Amino acid sequence: MMKSKVLILGSGPAGYTAGIYAARACLDPILLTGSAKGGQLTTTTDVENYTGFPNPVQGTWLMEQMEKHAQNVGVKIVEDTATSVNLHTSPFEIVTEKKLQIHADTLIIATGAVAKWLHLPSEDKFKGYGVSGCATCDGFFYRGREVAVVGGGNTALEEALYLCNHASKVTIIHRRDTFRGDMTMQQRVLTHPKINIIWNHVVNEVIGDDNPKSVTALNIKNVITGAISTLPIHGVFIAIGHKPNTDLFHGKIDLDSDGYIKTQAGTSITSISGVFAAGDVQDKIYRQAITSAGSGCIAALDAERYLSKMP
Ligand SMILES: Cc1cc2nc3c(=O)[nH]c(=O)nc-3n(C[C@H](O)[C@H](O)[C@H](O)COP(=O)(O)OP(=O)(O)OC[C@H]3O[C@@H](n4cnc5c(N)ncnc54)[C@H](O)[C@@H]3O)c2cc1C
Repeated sequence: MMKSKVLILGSGPAGYTAGIYAARACLDPILLTGSAKGGQLTTTTDVENYTGFPNPVQGTWLMEQMEKHAQNVGVKIVEDTATSVNLHTSPFEIVTEKKLQIHADTLIIATGAVAKWLHLPSEDKFKGYGVSGCATCDGFFYRGREVAVVGGGNTALEEALYLCNHASKVTIIHRRDTFRGDMTMQQRVLTHPKINIIWNHVVNEVIGDDNPKSVTALNIKNVITGAISTLPIHGVFIAIGHKPNTDLFHGKIDLDSDGYIKTQAGTSITSISGVFAAGDVQDKIYRQAITSAGSGCIAALDAERYLSKMP
């Protein structure tokens, strides 16, 4: 059994930053890392847009620095995952995979999200080497080159439009013959001179070189005729959506229709008093390491204010 004024779920940029601020406010936070220690950034290679690092750094390295920083200021980091939460008690009761019971006066949920992938072995092989899940993060690497975007919803349309700032040509591959995204964005995509659309196709395989590891083409299949063709490209962005890690909170806290935790605008305050949310678990728009870290800071400050008013 453990007791904590602040319990943080998640070891991505939001969780570690919340931990650093809570520790420096003398709140002795406990942080559960979850099974994906370091979060989503550990699944990528070069990170070029985190302020303070003028040269590219590896995602895993950056997360190790955040962990060290949190440890140095006194965050108690526990390699475990929350498996049940009771938010109707005071303090809140949390049970973990390793059967720890934690009583917490406040809870910061920073459990992030996972990008949806195609689950092709070749996609896995080239992740970070031409296969990406984030145009804002990696679009810059494809200046003047040809790229593909897979998907047909708002995420895919946004990614395609963003990539037009960098790439010479953007090909959208969509398995249906119409988009699902909003009409204004559809219009912009359909009329954009750099965007080419391949309807009714799915990606069969990502083709590339081993030395240097890089993508050179996609093997695509027409879902109506079954015909296979090859599309030469330098990078492919998988934009078929994200899933927030909120399974634990269904029916316990207000979520939006996509399963993201609802927070009051400009704060980390959720529908349960004393429970705060930060990072991608409550943000389906920006989804960046730096915005997650910023919202982790907000959550720790909100928790501190809440605790200072507790009897
Ligand atoms: C391939 C890829 C490349 C990217 N590149 C960049 C980039 O270059 N620049 C950039 O700014 N952003 C990039 N991003 C986005 C960035 O990684 C995310 O926006 C950021 O990691 C979100 O941080 P987070 O702390 O909210 O959550 P996450 O990083 O998703 O971390 C969530 C954490 O919660 C933990 N967790 C989950 N469930 C539980 C539980 N039940 N109990 C305890 N812990 C739990 C997980 O183990 C994990 O540690 C990239 C994302 C991907 C997928």
